[in-house]
This record gives sequence, structure tokens and C-alpha cells, in this order.
Amino acid sequence: MPKLNIVIVGGSLGGLCTGLALKQLGHDVTILERNPDNLLHNQGAGIVAGGDTLEFFKRYDRCSRSFAVSSQKRLYLDRDANVVHRVDMVQNMTSWDLSYYMLRANFDGVKSDYCDVPPVHPDDGKAVHLHGHKVIGLEDEGDQVNVTFEKSNGERGSIKGDVVVGADGPNSTVRSLLVRNVERTYAGYCALRGTVPEDEATDAAREAFQERFTFFHGPGIQILAYTIPGPNGAVEKGKRLLNFVYYTNFPAESLDKPDGPLKEILTDVDGMPHRITLPPGKINPAVWEKRKNIARENLPRPFADLVCATKKPFVQAITDVISPENEFMGGKVVLIGDALAGFRPHTVASTSQAAFDAMILADMLEGKISRKEWKLQTMCYARTIQKRGVDMGNRSQFGDLPLEEHIKDRDRASKPRREEVWPEWAKAGLEDIPTPSDATEPRL
Ligand SMILES: Cc1cc2nc3c(=O)[nH]c(=O)nc-3n(C[C@H](O)[C@H](O)[C@H](O)COP(=O)(O)OP(=O)(O)OC[C@H]3O[C@@H](n4cnc5c(N)ncnc54)[C@H](O)[C@@H]3O)c2cc1C
Repeated sequence: MPKLNIVIVGGSLGGLCTGLALKQLGHDVTILERNPDNLLHNQGAGIVAGGDTLEFFKRYDRCSRSFAVSSQKRLYLDRDANVVHRVDMVQNMTSWDLSYYMLRANFDGVKSDYCDVPPVHPDDGKAVHLHGHKVIGLEDEGDQVNVTFEKSNGERGSIKGDVVVGADGPNSTVRSLLVRNVERTYAGYCALRGTVPEDEATDAAREAFQERFTFFHGPGIQILAYTIPGPNGAVEKGKRLLNFVYYTNFPAESLDKPDGPLKEILTDVDGMPHRITLPPGKINPAVWEKRKNIARENLPRPFADLVCATKKPFVQAITDVISPENEFMGGKVVLIGDALAGFRPHTVASTSQAAFDAMILADMLEGKISRKEWKLQTMCYARTIQKRGVDMGNRSQFGDLPLEEHIKDRDRASKPRREEVWPEWAKAGLEDIPTPSDATEPRL
């Protein structure tokens, strides 16, 4: 396998997973991240570590530390906080910041209190992470792609890649440079999110959420909570966080024309409007006070306790986006993760998609699977799970369904990817992709 120059646009979880997998294959990797600081700002929230996320860390992580907290049971509460459904089910919960710091330690040796930096491996390719590099253009130069960027100081520059990976999230610049008319649309509701240290939570909250994955559905409401690692990734009991995601309807035609409660919740304490995410610590205290009162009126006590105890809530408007295609310029540019398909969080699959896309891209470049199989699996995954998220979210927020239906949806979302049978509509146009004669070789 020839050594390739790989350029990755976006240095969040998807870009880092891909960078790490390809560096360990011996390729030279440069990540271009637009954020002006070397480290991305942590929102401190939880991630359900699905099968592909766990497999990724098993394959590529050399930090050797615990990566997740296990949840032992899945529970559903009624309005009076009675447990109305209980299943023994082990699931692994981690935090965005622990995942990020472990990936940075592995990719480019970033030191932190989260984990040790593994020794440099002689067979690895070079790993370069450039922050303050916002990608603005791509040109097909035959064997390579020229990637143009603008630095935080306004200077422009460019870098050539044999393969360019667009891991630049749901508003992907790479995607917008290559496909027209892909819109990111507002789903009509937001997730209010936050965490509470487990030793600061009420007894009722601890009982309901410590090592439990617990849900409540009400009209126009879904809230769920689970235990995640604490500061610096601590997984010891007493040092962890209870993490919640509280979906609430905020009607509006689009995020471009927010009014009423949507405008109110997305306008920060300094009066600055935010389009999709209001970061932790920026919410207007008067607006949050209102939300706390609504939570007390509508949620079972342990959930209301958690919402009311969180010190730095943040808000994420729920959106939909999917690219019709994931390879461009004869396969030299590929999209992965949220840049390919932004899932609704109900699917608990965004990080799993990023991990899966990274692993299967590495397998394809190594010749372990054909390009046709890579395309089929990545596109079917993106299409199927994206649609599932839309259905789950709409049923939960706008339907009037018995609890059994929500449980069925959750069971479907918990199915391991390997057990998925991709529906015919998801395979449309993928099984008849012309296969190059050397089907197991990368088409570059
Ligand atoms: C700072 C941050 C915190 C997050 N916290 C959580 C969390 O707590 N819980 C959770 O479930 N999910 C969180 N997410 C989302 C989560 O990372 C993704 O849903 C998922 O892991 C897929 O990741 P991704 O790398 O494909 O996309 P994203 O995580 O969206 O990352 C895209 C990256 O590309 C960069 N980028 C965008 N445009 C350009 C450009 N033109 N040039 C260069 N770089 C560009 C962005 O700055 C960003 O770092 C967070 C994302 C970010 C960026």
C-alpha cells in the first residue's frame, strides 16, 4: 500500500478518529481545524458509546485508561416518578471531552490530565494538527486535491492531499463546495442539556440516574439522563456527572426566523442571538428560571431536580441534514460523520457514525474491503439512521403515542449496526456502482 498524504478538514471527534486510524496505517495526516485555539472548547456533555465507538477505541487507542461508565439498566418513569418499565441492559456512557482528549493524546500527543500520552510508534505516519485553519476551497489537480485555507490571522495558504476527508460537521464547507442545495433544516424542537456532579444531586436523582439510562415521555417532551465520566474523565463513583438531554418543542418555521420562545432561548445573557447552539454558561438566567419552573411543573421529580441543579445548561436546536453523496473528485474527497449525515441525538449514533466511517475508510484504503462495499455500508448507515432519527424525534415530540411505541423506537435504536438489515430504499443507486477492475484497491 503506498503511503498517502491525507488532509482532514475538521478536528473534532470524526476528524480525529479518521486521522488516528490512517496515521496508524502509516499514512501522513494533516488535520485542518478552523477553531482559533489548539483545543476545542468542551461542552462537557455525554455521549452514548455505541458498538462502533467502543470498537474504534479497542482497535486504535494506546492510552489504556477506562473510557466509559457502564449503565446497567434502562428505566422509564411516569409523571410521579414510578418505574413503569425496566430492562437489564449494559450500555457504555462517556463524555465528549474524555473522548476528545484521548483522541488528541493518540493522534498528536497532546498532554492533559485526562490520560497519558502513548509512546510514538515507529510504523505510524506523521500526524499534524493545525488549528486556526479554516478551509475555504478545493481544486481537483488530477492525482491530488489542493485544499485552500484561511488562517485566523487572515493569511491564506494551501496544502495538497492524495485524499481529503471532510469531517467538518453538519454545516460542512467541504460538502457545500461540492454539492448544491443540501439544506440543514430545523426540526421544531431543541435539546436543553446539562450535567450535575453526582455528589451534588438529590437522593432521588442519584437513585434514578446513577448507572441507569432513564427516560420520561410527556406531551411535546422527552427527557433522558445517564451517568458519564467527571472532570478529567474520572470514572470513580462520587466523581462522575449525571447528564441530561431534555427535548422541548419550540415552534418556528426556520432557524433564520426565530421568534417567541425559540428566539428567547437562543439569545444569550449579553443579548447576542445564536443560531443553533447556545454554549454552556451563556444562557440568560431569567429565561432559564422560566424553564426550571416549567420543568418542575411537567417532569418527574428526579428529572426536575437535575434540570434545576445544573449550573451551566446549554441549548442545541435539533436539525436535519444529509448529503446525497459521500465521494467526489473521483473518490479523492470523501465525507464522513456529521458532514455526511447529521443525526438527531435520539439515535445516540453520531459519534458511532464518525467512528464507523473512520474504521471502514481505513479498511478500504488498506484493501480489506472493496470500495463498493465501503460505499454501500457508509451510505446505507447514513441514510437509514438519519431517517430513523427523524421518525423517532417526530413521533416523540409531535405524536401522541403510548409508551410502548417509544420503547419500541428505543429498542430499534439500540440494535448493533452489524445486525441491521439495510432497507431497499437506503441501497438505491449503491449496488450498481461501477466497480473498478481492481475492486479492492483504493480508487485514487
Ligand atoms: C466543540 C464540540 C463539542 C461537542 N460536544 C458534544 C457533546 O458534548 N455531546 C455530543 O453528543 N456531541 C457533541 N458534539 C458533536 C459531536 O462531536 C458530533 O455529533 C459527532 O461526534 C460527529 O463528529 P464530527 O467530527 O463528524 O462533527 P463535529 O463534531 O460537528 O465537528 C466538525 C469540526 O469541523 C470543524 N470545521 C467546520 N468547518 C470547518 C472548515 N471550513 N475548516 C476547518 N474546520 C472546520 C468544526 O470547528 C468542528 O471542530 C460536539 C461537537 C463540537 C465541535
